[in-house]
Parts: sequence; C-alpha cells; structure tokens
Amino acid sequence: MGGSGDQEPMHELGVTQNILQIALEHAQKAGAQKIRSINLVIGGLSGIIDEGVQFYFDFVSKETMAEGAKLVFKKVPVRFRCRKCGKAFDFHGEDWVCPDCQSPGPEILTGREFFMESIEVE
Ligand SMILES: [Zn+2]
Repeated sequence: MGGSGDQEPMHELGVTQNILQIALEHAQKAGAQKIRSINLVIGGLSGIIDEGVQFYFDFVSKETMAEGAKLVFKKVPVRFRCRKCGKAFDFHGEDWVCPDCQSPGPEILTGREFFMESIEVE
C-alpha cells in the first residue's frame, strides 16, 4: 500500500464490495438461490470505470450467490445548471462554462450517481 496514484483501484474495490453486500442482502431477503444480474446506475462524473467494477466484482463474488452474475450499467448523462442565470445544460467534452452567459463553475445536477438499482435472481 502507499505510493502515488493508487487511490482509484482501492476506490473501485471498495464500491464493488459495497454493491456485492447490498445485492446479497436483497437476494437473501427474496429467498433467492442465485443472483443472475445486478443493475447499476453510474454517472459520468462518478469516477467509476465500469470495466474496473466488473473486474473486482468477478473477484469478490467468488463462492457467493452472486458468482457469475452479470453487471448491467445504466449510464447517467452529466447535466449542469448555471449558478448565475439558472440555465440547465448538458456536459459536452470538458467545457464547464455556461453556454448562455459564459459563467464558470456550474452546479452539478446529475452525473455523480453510483448505486444499485435492482437485481435479478433465480
Ligand atoms: Zn449562465
């Protein structure tokens, strides 16, 4: 542990373990034998890479009800609202400036999401 630039993988491992735990709790409550798929909502600004989550998931779900489950990612687009004029606009590329009044630093409306929406079980 330690060194530089090592935060991202730990972050994804942590959130993946969280997702697994929540999914297993849901499946147990539903009396399921096996989790077939897990539907996740992921925002464009969440900093979560779906391939990374799948990679860690395959690892942490071994010998649980969720082993072999498919992760389905629903992407949420990034949307901003200008703090000055109140205009809502979509994020394209790296421009965080209001298209109407050119004000920087808008409020983030959507895009930071990362949560489990539902699971499919057998
Ligand atoms: Zn504006």
